[in-house]
Amino acid sequence: MGRPVRAGGAARCVECGAMDAQERFSRRGFVQVGATAGLAVAAGKAGEASSRLPFGPPPGPIAISSANGLRATTKAVELMAAGRDTLEAAVEGVVIVEEDPNDMSVGYGGLPNEEGVVELDASVMHGPTMRAGAVAALQNIKTPSRVAKLVMERTDHVLLVGPGALRFAKAYGFKEENLLTDAAREAWLRWKTRLSKEDDWLDDDETRADFKRPTGTISCIALNAKGEVSGCTTTSGLAFKIPGRVGDSPIIGAGLYVDGEVGGCGSTGRGEAVLQSCGSRTVVENMKDGMTPEDAVLDVLKRICEQTKTTRLLSSPGRPNFDVNFYALRVDGRFAGGRIYSGGSFAVNDGTGSKLVPEVYLYERP
Ligand code: ASP
Repeated sequence: MGRPVRAGGAARCVECGAMDAQERFSRRGFVQVGATAGLAVAAGKAGEASSRLPFGPPPGPIAISSANGLRATTKAVELMAAGRDTLEAAVEGVVIVEEDPNDMSVGYGGLPNEEGVVELDASVMHGPTMRAGAVAALQNIKTPSRVAKLVMERTDHVLLVGPGALRFAKAYGFKEENLLTDAAREAWLRWKTRLSKEDDWLDDDETRADFKRPTGTISCIALNAKGEVSGCTTTSGLAFKIPGRVGDSPIIGAGLYVDGEVGGCGSTGRGEAVLQSCGSRTVVENMKDGMTPEDAVLDVLKRICEQTKTTRLLSSPGRPNFDVNFYALRVDGRFAGGRIYSGGSFAVNDGTGSKLVPEVYLYERP
């Protein structure tokens, strides 16, 4: 397996050596990675002693998220600019997506499990207090991120699951609703008809198309001008999963981790790979050890590639046939999004509006 190549914190494609087209925001606006990369944040150059703790605070609020979070990052920055706490900012940002029936990867309208039931996972982590909360396999509640925040604030626990999480949410006045939209139900039916040619669920023409399982989640990390950082990850999880399956999103250290002194990281993509690599926590620990966010993310993606040995998860030449994304934001305002294969982007708002920025990556998409 090839090795990711980095130059001054910027990712190069491991195969062709070309500099990734990634752009990174400077403290105010974009800076092209490459010759000017070091200008983005003086303390952030890979391997320099100055990139170690303590990092200075950013010049203003910044929020980053998965690509489906343009509205989330806008909301998060607005709330932080108005003086609201970073966790409230991240959660109220992602709630916009949770409540949107057109995003079929999160909250209301999310794709259901194999029995046609929507089961949601979410986690939050508050950097200033290092507290966390999460819910998993939660049914009938549109905004699991808000429930996860209440688990953090109103219990001595970190994770509530299934019926217990639902009872807790109802105790706090959340309304039970049917989360399965017609579009999600139809997508589930299409999946079911393609499951097997031997079962009794018939497709129109009973041909078995190459069906790619849809994926998606939203993860948002919010940093205010004081250098306080929090994060939230929320999802309907793997589409058509076995009921009760829990992915990385509600697991602190996997789908989300925040260290108030260092920064935060969240993930989307194949949750099983993120769980097995303790992904987000490892990215944050890498940043704590002095890596730039780009290097921290690429290192964990590389580890995931190296530890993927199961044949059915490999494509030629022995690389994962899935993808994973990490979104990392350091307390000085330097950030990166990264994934295994090229072509991804993530949302960033540094106070100058929400924009999609290319992710760094290990390999060109075949
Ligand atoms: N990470 C999510 C999970 O495994 C799914 C996704 O982001 O596509 O539950």
